[in-house]
Amino acid sequence: MAKTKYYSSPAWRRLSRATKERDGFQCQICGDIEGDPYTILNAHHIVARAEGGSDTLDNLITLCDLCHAVVTNWWHRFWFGNNTEEERVEMRGARLEYLEFLALDAATRRERQRDIWERWGRVPTVINI
Ligand SMILES: [Zn+2]
Repeated sequence: MAKTKYYSSPAWRRLSRATKERDGFQCQICGDIEGDPYTILNAHHIVARAEGGSDTLDNLITLCDLCHAVVTNWWHRFWFGNNTEEERVEMRGARLEYLEFLALDAATRRERQRDIWERWGRVPTVINI
């Protein structure tokens, strides 16, 4: 199914909702939750659909708008800076770091997430075991 059609389909809405429910309506990178100022949550394909990533819960993760913009190459410019070389280098570094985190198997990712969030004082809204 074409990208634009898929993302407005009932199937995607259900899957997107199920992803956010599983993740406790909380960005799985920074820990922002629905209701925090300016927080809009997205279900993100860990392996992009264009690269053969599946439309299944294990390939989806909840990200806030800001974290989503970091990992989604083509959104960078709408969100960040003036597109100077320095900013591009910084953004590339952040993106690689986030992608590496998202590519971890779920158990390792949650373990690392717990350590990071504890440092930031973030509390998970659901305990994934
Ligand atoms: Zn976030």
